[in-house]
Amino acid sequence: MDKPELLLPAGSPETIRTAVLYGADAVYMGTPDMSMRTKSKLTLDEVVEGTRFAHAHGVKVYLTLNLISHNRDIPKLPEYLETVRAVSPDGLIVADPGVFAFVREHAPEIPLHVSTQANACSWLTVNFWKDQGAKLVVLGRETSFAELAEIRKQCPDIKLEAFVHGAMCMTYSGRCLLSNFMAERGANQGNCANSCRWEYKVHLKLKDGTVQELTIDERNEGLFEFFLEEGYRPGELLPIEENERGSYILNSKDLCLMPKLADYMRIGVDTFKIEGRSRSPYYVALTARAYRQAIDDWADNPDGWDPKPYMRELETVGSRGYTLAFHNGRLTNYAHGYDHTAALGEWEYAGSIADVTDDALILTVKNRLEAGDVLEFVPPASRETILLRLYAYETLDGKKHEAVNAGQKRAVRIPFSAFDHEDAARVRALLPPLTIVRKERSLTEAEWARLKADRAALRLDQGSGSGTAYDENRKKLQVALEEDLMDRRPRSPRLGTEGCCGKGCNGCHIFWNDPAYGKARKLLATKKQGEMLDQNMRETG
Ligand code: SF4
Repeated sequence: MDKPELLLPAGSPETIRTAVLYGADAVYMGTPDMSMRTKSKLTLDEVVEGTRFAHAHGVKVYLTLNLISHNRDIPKLPEYLETVRAVSPDGLIVADPGVFAFVREHAPEIPLHVSTQANACSWLTVNFWKDQGAKLVVLGRETSFAELAEIRKQCPDIKLEAFVHGAMCMTYSGRCLLSNFMAERGANQGNCANSCRWEYKVHLKLKDGTVQELTIDERNEGLFEFFLEEGYRPGELLPIEENERGSYILNSKDLCLMPKLADYMRIGVDTFKIEGRSRSPYYVALTARAYRQAIDDWADNPDGWDPKPYMRELETVGSRGYTLAFHNGRLTNYAHGYDHTAALGEWEYAGSIADVTDDALILTVKNRLEAGDVLEFVPPASRETILLRLYAYETLDGKKHEAVNAGQKRAVRIPFSAFDHEDAARVRALLPPLTIVRKERSLTEAEWARLKADRAALRLDQGSGSGTAYDENRKKLQVALEEDLMDRRPRSPRLGTEGCCGKGCNGCHIFWNDPAYGKARKLLATKKQGEMLDQNMRETG
């Protein structure tokens, strides 16, 4: 069976190159005008250049034209088609039947893909699009696994693409007017303001002639409870919860099908799509790498495949909490983030390698770096992570600093000699330009509690774990949010100049000098990094 194609989002020249470097089989992007991303950072020249770059590396490019068209958009179509022809895309992603027919007539050589915005969720709809000439249908995220398996059986002659990772909409794959209503920004024209993620609070107004607003706060919250009653379920009252920070009742968690990916590979889905054209190179690189490895490993050994190592990698990327969403057919309560909306992870984007000189890496700084931080270099073509602890950062003017902040084009120089148990040739081979560097974050009590509650919810979503454990975790989260303690603590003692993770990072003073780590040092000395360390010490005297 063929491996599924891994399709990554590209919203900037850097993310195109990053996706290619980290293992994408294909990328999707938009030309600036009609691409469902009005804030696309790509100019037309960059789309052309990005396409050439991807093609030169054997990676396909699909262009988006998936707006729901209005009359005013139609005159733009001929020019749009002329533009995209120049780019020679491997597919054009279209949602609107009128636009589909127009492209088929005026640019018949471009393969047509039916966008998720067309909401295809059944074999009947997929067959309809096949009869219209579509080469591939992107199924709606609302399609369950059982439905997808049935569609695969009934529609063997057309390619099927499924979203496996990324943000979800509260509404039917983005057919949503919430953003238009709240922010006058059209979600179906690529300009969603994410109004579903905003914080909403309940207020009461008295109808006693006085226009007095009643805010629910700690003085009166015990007096009220709020419920919704749905018309066909009289008496079944659905509580609306909120605290003094409000509530996020429309805020879906992020889709992550990694725990079930083997099922999707087994039934022969052609393309696995990752959402996120406005995401950072960090997100693109690390999700690409995790799914690349998962797909390749499954193809090599389907029976021994286990999602855990890839999930651990995905946890280094910030998320709103992961959910299987519609995988089992029904969206459950666990798929929503009621207490928070921002993406959160235990790791963060430390920087990316901008250049490799004769004797050093040049790292563009993306988040504050402090003395004692352990930088984790994530090689695109290898599974290992190279750890480097630095106690000072050299900016490009040659000055040394205990800490550096991210800023416009802020960069630091990291000499190869800092990798005291990797030789320069190996560093150079493993860490080319655009390599992503991450580091662990210190989090507040509420943030740690949130991660635990999110993971407990995902276990329940998968049919394991216990409801009691989830409730307890959620209660702890509520308490931590109320206490609002801003002290931060790291997961492991690898942050700051005092602690040590005991992994023998390059450059770690504590690990290589403290007698407490003598036994661990002896163990490492028998391995490659121990040999390299000895060699470096001999060379530097
Ligand atoms: S407001 Fe939310 S539900 Fe609506 S399109 Fe935007 S992300 Fe989707």
